[in-house]
Amino acid sequence: MSYKTIVGLEIHVELSTETKAFCSCKNEFGGEPNTRVCPVCLALPGGMPVLNENVVNYTIMAGLALNCNIEKLSKFDRKNYFYPDLTKGYQVTQDDMPICTEGYLEIEGDRGAKKVGIYKIQMEEDTAKSLHTDSDETLMDYNRCGVPLIEIVSKPDMNSGKEARLFLEKLKSTLTYLGISDCKMEEGSLRCDVNVNVVDEEKGIKTQVTEVKNLNSFRGVEKAIDFETKRHIELLEKGEDEIKTTRRWDDVNNETILMRVKYTVADYRFAPEGDLPQVVIDEEKIEKIRSEMPELPDKKSARFQEEYSIPQYDAEILTSSQKLALFYEETAEKFDDYNMVSNWMMTEVLRRVEDVEEFEVPFSTDDFADLLKAIKTNTINNNVGKKVLREMFETSKKPMDIIKEQGLSQITDTSEIEAIVNKVIATNPKSIEDYNAGKTRVLGFLVGLVMKESRGKANPQIVNQLIMEKIKK
Ligand code: ZN
Ligand code: MN
Repeated sequence: MSYKTIVGLEIHVELSTETKAFCSCKNEFGGEPNTRVCPVCLALPGGMPVLNENVVNYTIMAGLALNCNIEKLSKFDRKNYFYPDLTKGYQVTQDDMPICTEGYLEIEGDRGAKKVGIYKIQMEEDTAKSLHTDSDETLMDYNRCGVPLIEIVSKPDMNSGKEARLFLEKLKSTLTYLGISDCKMEEGSLRCDVNVNVVDEEKGIKTQVTEVKNLNSFRGVEKAIDFETKRHIELLEKGEDEIKTTRRWDDVNNETILMRVKYTVADYRFAPEGDLPQVVIDEEKIEKIRSEMPELPDKKSARFQEEYSIPQYDAEILTSSQKLALFYEETAEKFDDYNMVSNWMMTEVLRRVEDVEEFEVPFSTDDFADLLKAIKTNTINNNVGKKVLREMFETSKKPMDIIKEQGLSQITDTSEIEAIVNKVIATNPKSIEDYNAGKTRVLGFLVGLVMKESRGKANPQIVNQLIMEKIKK
């Protein structure tokens, strides 16, 4: 039995331009409903759209970052459908001549690095938001109507839920690096539909593609694909098949539920958008945008590995958000044990930070570098260092002040440590017998007692050495 899961994604991303795509209404999230609207985005008679140039610029940036061809000539089309979230009765989008084509994004796939192809990126407008009330009414908020979107259509190059999640994470970090979207799935600025089916490679048969909607987290995408994989394999094993369907992900029960039989493309009656001119882009514009783009995660990660000699795994996490990467680089300028900076950030710092994207800590890189210096020069030991860092998170105090105020400096005076060792051994005489009887674990027990007695301040190497000496006597 050899099954292969085939996954393709369609991702809608709201661009964070100042104004909407075809009018000068403000482009913002939330706020009082229906306060950011005008005759154009409400589709009142006579309203004429004017394309926002930044929508084009941002889309070119996305296209370049995703290794696409930027088409010199593209056009807008009308996608017709009747629903209250679209007052015009059609959505302005790009059908057969999109602005970006044939790109890819590289991810660390199930079997090593792989390129996930991208068919196209098209510019389009967002629709209004429907609010369903408890009394079974539907209210419309047109603030979102006309907000610029890009739709990114991947090739079916992913083969598991995990690969799809990794693709989305990489896409999000790339687009947020560019500053063209905040990609917040919970606020709807990144939305993802999944296409999935399974091939029986031995028999050469496959299931019909299922589309899954209503996904609101990357984990949800992963789980929905894993769920569908199992469902499709069951269909194959029972020798059954179904027609193309659209299902929605139920995050509470962890399952997909049938919504409807899938629409076909013909239902939308695409037609050229006559109110907007074709989009013409010259090489000069593309090169100008390329030259102004920031260093992207892949490049930055490679540079971190090279410049700071840190492992690939560390470099990828540290460059997964721009703010995190900046904190690392600023600290590394002030303290040159780059691996130590990386290790402390990856463990002690990151486990106290919820949102890596919005990475923020209540102390400066100067303070963080001072803490690492204090550990490196044995002013404090590793464990006390963790304690000081915790205090820095809670109080934003400077590390040297915390060390001074609480008298945390490491005890390196051998006679002072010896006094504690003697006291501990005197109160645990049996432990020496145990050790000599072969229970070497006792050593760790005694070291622990001495460290506790010194409030964690004794130099662990000296403690170890002294205890060994005493036992041997
Ligand atoms: Zn408007
Ligand atoms: Mn779309």
